[in-house]
Amino acid sequence: MAQAKGFAAQSATSPLAPFNFERRALRADDVAIEIDYCGVCHSDIHTAENDWGGSVYPVVPGHEIIGHVTAVGSDVSRFKVGDIVGVGCLVDSCKHCSACDDGLEQYCLNGFVGTYNGQDKIDGTITYGGYSDSIVVHERFVLSIPEALDPASAAPILCAGITTYSPLKHFGVKAGDKVGVLGMGGLGHMGVKFAKAMGAEVTIFTRSESKVAEAKKQGADHVVISTDPEQMAAVAGTFNYLLDTIPVQHDLNPYLNCLKYDGVHILVGLIEPMDPPVHAANLVLKRRVIAGSLIGGLPETQEVLDFCAEHGITCDVEMLAMQDINQAYERMKKGDVKYRFVIDMASLKN
Ligand code: NDP
Ligand code: ZN
Ligand code: ZN
Repeated sequence: MAQAKGFAAQSATSPLAPFNFERRALRADDVAIEIDYCGVCHSDIHTAENDWGGSVYPVVPGHEIIGHVTAVGSDVSRFKVGDIVGVGCLVDSCKHCSACDDGLEQYCLNGFVGTYNGQDKIDGTITYGGYSDSIVVHERFVLSIPEALDPASAAPILCAGITTYSPLKHFGVKAGDKVGVLGMGGLGHMGVKFAKAMGAEVTIFTRSESKVAEAKKQGADHVVISTDPEQMAAVAGTFNYLLDTIPVQHDLNPYLNCLKYDGVHILVGLIEPMDPPVHAANLVLKRRVIAGSLIGGLPETQEVLDFCAEHGITCDVEMLAMQDINQAYERMKKGDVKYRFVIDMASLKN
């Protein structure tokens, strides 16, 4: 066992505060990592504040982890001390079902283990995430960080990146397609970059007038202010895909109306009942599809890291001291971050 320092929420309503705990002793197939950076995902807020139910306290959030290897177990072959590595949203799965065999560990038939608020399959303890100075992870769930990537701005690729890359690829976005990205936050800004890299014509749907110029800088071809019915009507029936990163319940009907026939509305943000209900006619009359997608498996997460290195894709990050995490959460709830907070773990030593 090794002592670890981190920040945790002790209840759904308490701010995150310093928390000392133990990391497990290295198993034969484990990699021990000193954490250098950790991105701040909206799922961290949902879990810390128990928006989805089922949070087990204390919660140590954080699943966009970049660090360096400090020790490896006796059976580890892919990593050595000193390597720059990443850990995303998953730290274990059954490793033998058909989903795991297909490299889709996020859909493991026997349940994956989340990086935080998951339950370790061997000792039953609740997992603690990356808002901490160290972590111990089975080597299958550790990613190599390409040298071409700046480690701090690579952190968000491990969740925001893979979560947007995976469905765009899976649903077949190709050159010339019209793709709309709903919500210009951590996921949304990465979605724009990937859709552009795949050759699509990309539109950002945002509530925020202040993000219009920024969205263009990010590479978006067009911007629609989603709260303006005239702007929404002007793009009715035109999109092949909508990538929906909005983190709260919202009316899907006006967005479905923007899809062409056969268009696909891909949900990644909404993990709650749809409210208000979807009008079936919005699907039936145009053979439209509502789909969902969860992060990505380990092979595809490595693929997106390599894709970013190859295409020069980086996340726009705002560096954060661990002690400022509660203010960062308040800003994210207002949509005020450009476009991902990344915690510099050196600040934990202060
Ligand atoms: P951010 O907070 O960074 O961005 C969300 C964006 O959505 C905001 O910037 C804002 O954009 C828009 N938004 C926020 N509130 C509202 C609202 N009330 N109505 C309409 N639009 C709103 O969040 P993330 O990008 O980190 O995460 C987005 C969602 O995706 C979260 O729910 C998260 O849990 C989920 N998620 C899902 C994953 C999956 O595997 N499916 C993986 C990771 C995250 P704007 O100001 O432009 O309108
Ligand atoms: Zn996330
Ligand atoms: Zn499995």
